Amino acid sequence: MTAPRSILIIGASRGLGLGLAGEFAAQGWAVTATVRSAAQQAPLQALPGVRVEQLEMTDPDSLEQLANRLNDQQFDVIFVNAGVAGPEHHSTAQASAEEMGQLFLTNAVAPLRVAERLLPNLAAEHGLIVFMSSILGSIEAGAGLGMPLYGASKAALNHLVQCFVRTQDNPKLGVVLMHPGWVRTDMGGADAPLDIDSSCKGMVAQVSAAVGQPGLRYQDYEGNPLPW
Ligand code: NDP
Repeated sequence: MTAPRSILIIGASRGLGLGLAGEFAAQGWAVTATVRSAAQQAPLQALPGVRVEQLEMTDPDSLEQLANRLNDQQFDVIFVNAGVAGPEHHSTAQASAEEMGQLFLTNAVAPLRVAERLLPNLAAEHGLIVFMSSILGSIEAGAGLGMPLYGASKAALNHLVQCFVRTQDNPKLGVVLMHPGWVRTDMGGADAPLDIDSSCKGMVAQVSAAVGQPGLRYQDYEGNPLPW
């Protein structure tokens, strides 16, 4: 019998992260999933076989503590899902320096720090890192769709991931920048056309197929490639 595939999901207290944890677990994967505080564990603990960990992604101490707790545990996939929408008004004119700093730290810089710090926990032979991006981070396809500051933070993520991939000397490393579709979550809002289940089923199929496929892809939950 072969061991089930394993995944670490960063940011799974609610929304797509929670949906991904449920769908991967339902498909037999060994799931470890993080929340920011212990008070948020209940929905994940209700999923059979899911191990809950704690991480505030923007806090280097919290990341160090998670890395120490994981020790040498290996994952086939690390999925950095956590992200924020940013200032309510989404306007460069109105956003404060603090709001913009927090947005870019959370959506662009922190995901890379997580990937860099936890890289030793990724299976070297076939490991896959997935970063939750957005079509709004595409310069070509996303500009004009709204939420320019949020889109810029995801474009920054895409850029940092491109830089990260170029510094890696493991030719077997797989990396995906994922657009989940426009989904009805706290962030996506009630008007979004997709439900969490449909998006997550699509992403789980895409991730399953991408394990063992080296190189970088920017794609949506159905496998359609996106322009940079
Ligand atoms: P939600 O707002 O519903 O959930 C966001 C998740 O990220 C929560 O679990 C939240 O934890 C976590 N999180 C936020 N900041 C941090 C942090 N600093 N450290 C750790 N965890 C954090 O959003 P969605 O589920 O809709 O979005 C998930 C991802 O998908 C995001 O990256 C988003 O940008 C992206 N996305 C979503 C789309 C959509 O239509 N919904 C479309 C395109 C991309 P907590 O509960 O503690 O706040």
